Amino acid sequence: MSARYTDHDTERLVVEGAKTAGLGPPRSEFETGHRTEFARDRARVLHSAALRRLADKTQVMGPREADTPRTRLTHSLEVAQIGRSIADGLGCDPDLVDLAGLAHDIGHPPYGHNGEKALDTFADAFGGFEGNAQNLRILTRLEPKVLEADGASAGLNLTRAALDAALKYPWGRTGPGTKFGAYEVDTERLEWIRKGAPDRRRSLECQIMDWSDDVAYSVHDVEDGVLAGRIDLRALADPAEQDALAALGQFQHSLAADELIAAAQRLSELPVVAAASGYDGTFTASVALKRLTSELVGRFATAAIMATQEVSGPQPLSRYNADLEVPRIVAAEVALLKTVALRYVMSDPAHRLRQAAQRERILAVAERLLGTAPGRLDPLLLPFWNAATDDTARVRVVVDQIASYTESRLERVASELKI
Ligand code: MG
Repeated sequence: MSARYTDHDTERLVVEGAKTAGLGPPRSEFETGHRTEFARDRARVLHSAALRRLADKTQVMGPREADTPRTRLTHSLEVAQIGRSIADGLGCDPDLVDLAGLAHDIGHPPYGHNGEKALDTFADAFGGFEGNAQNLRILTRLEPKVLEADGASAGLNLTRAALDAALKYPWGRTGPGTKFGAYEVDTERLEWIRKGAPDRRRSLECQIMDWSDDVAYSVHDVEDGVLAGRIDLRALADPAEQDALAALGQFQHSLAADELIAAAQRLSELPVVAAASGYDGTFTASVALKRLTSELVGRFATAAIMATQEVSGPQPLSRYNADLEVPRIVAAEVALLKTVALRYVMSDPAHRLRQAAQRERILAVAERLLGTAPGRLDPLLLPFWNAATDDTARVRVVVDQIASYTESRLERVASELKI
């Protein structure tokens, strides 16, 4: 049994009829009812150009740095998959959580969070840049799919519940470097989505997506680190390494050092962790590593389902009738894994140098595009440029352009501009 959703939840910005592909009006409810509104939403996200571009955007390692790379696209597919299974466990709509997983990073610029920082610097005086706010812009404006009556874009024209499920930070920008979900220019969209929603609270489906994101990237970053020979899981049982990890992780995750040490100790004692230690690339070691990642994902997903049902009961849960509960010790384990990736992979000096060069490249391209606009803008963005009446609006279009670039395209443009 799955939860009921109201007409308010399935409302779209622009009212649409059933799609018939020229086959005439539907003859029965069967013909229109073969898929739910949320399955339709999910299909729209899946078919979007912005989603496909994530294939050439960095997750941790760049798309061209490894032989089996995780990109923003594969990460998004994994988040969708984990989210779907938690949704099944709790009785909320699996397509709704799945599409939130697919869409959760759709606004990511080239070079991931690193690119995000560069664009935020570039646009600081004009509303800043935030991947999550860019998600909303793509879903509700930039992705060409549905037009409003006056010809303005409604983006993918997803249902309210779908947009709300993808909205991790349901508020506007409060200052530089903060997390937020909508630029000032998109306030009207935000208000439409949040009509009737409790202030600053996220829907259950969104909370599931967020936890799935945490689970996916903590487990998979460690898997990738092991594959790349950067992480040796035996470190988890080493007291000196435990201390170092706790010292690094405690401020990032607002957990006490001893909670992180206990988490490292607990993880090190799991048979699947011990079995995957000393990875050497053989088939047996690869099986052990795969078993580790699937067991950890299962552990973290199941813990959240059980804890949530303990608080909210076994009936189907959805929207604002429950919050996702994550046991503190499980949150500490996920935080510890993120810290492992941070210590052994991301703190690498060569990685940091590469990141600094990437930020400079983005800034330089952004300045040049702004200086020569609309010269190098895609035709798709010209209506936005032509409608822009001040610098805030013009900078936004340049930011939209750069955020849409794949890493290959950004580098191509940089080399054409001799940057
Ligand atoms: Mg993510």
